[in-house]
Amino acid sequence: MRYDVCVLGSFMKDLVASADRRPLPGETLHGTGFAEHLGGKGVNQAIAAARMGARTAIVGTIGSDRYGEEFLELLSGDGVDTSWVVRHPSLGTGVGLPLVLPDGGNSIIIVSRANAAITPADVEAAADVLTDSRVLSVQLELPVSASQTALRIAAAAGVTTILTPAPVGPIDPRLAADVDILVPNEVEAAALTGLDCDDETQVPVIARKLADEWDLRGCVVTLGARGAFVVDRSSGAEVWIEPHVVATVDTVGAGDAFCGSLAASLASGADLVAAVRVANAAGALSTTINGAAASAPARAAALALLD
Ligand code: ADP
Repeated sequence: MRYDVCVLGSFMKDLVASADRRPLPGETLHGTGFAEHLGGKGVNQAIAAARMGARTAIVGTIGSDRYGEEFLELLSGDGVDTSWVVRHPSLGTGVGLPLVLPDGGNSIIIVSRANAAITPADVEAAADVLTDSRVLSVQLELPVSASQTALRIAAAAGVTTILTPAPVGPIDPRLAADVDILVPNEVEAAALTGLDCDDETQVPVIARKLADEWDLRGCVVTLGARGAFVVDRSSGAEVWIEPHVVATVDTVGAGDAFCGSLAASLASGADLVAAVRVANAAGALSTTINGAAASAPARAAALALLD
């Protein structure tokens, strides 16, 4: 195999404004701060996998613009192969426009732009990398037809497939059929099952229900500062993974750091429970640094937390 991890996913340039309050209709309001971040679940997961030492490639669509260039530079800097990234000739790179309030609350407008234009044919053109990877990780920020095509090609080639069901919505059963490991967070797990993750006695029920109904190899429910719960149907293991106590400053991107490192560990041959332990450390460490893609930890740091 040429790659350990292939990620099919989104590229989103975030232009973040801070303000004391939301503007009223028709009002122009002076903001209090501004920041730019490169993100999108696809990019975040690919960088997280690469920092865990995985030979990583990303498949997705950017615009022929300055933001697209920034992504290619960032990803190459982390050693992610961008050869299969398509540059859309007329649409711009996806953008997110968050407004952050003093209490940390936010409102976000996202405009998918080039991300929304990826077609099943674009994904089929990347079949070589999908089938030459040990693990494929997919989320739901791209058109479902693209995710479905990638999962079908990878599953047919025996590649281990991971789905992060975010943003959550009704899941097409044809998509589920090609997923090995589902990694919902607590909001997504609740939306998919109608059950409540706040009640910890329900978490194993939820993970088991998703694993059985989708006929998965495994299901991992991520629970923020409560750690994670994993069901591995191939070994029969059902395990609570206790959280690491860290100095959290920003939880944005924790789920992506978790999934990227999970993919990397699985690709290195770890079983699902062992891979979740590493991912749990990577997710925790990512919360100690601001940003999403920028906060993914190096493998040595994640392993050191496990000792
Ligand atoms: P998402 O970002 O998708 O909402 P979570 O918030 O569930 O995902 O975080 C993913 C994983 O990151 C968790 O399962 C846990 O392993 C780790 N994590 C997240 N927040 C914390 C925290 N405050 N302390 C320790 N670990 C955390």
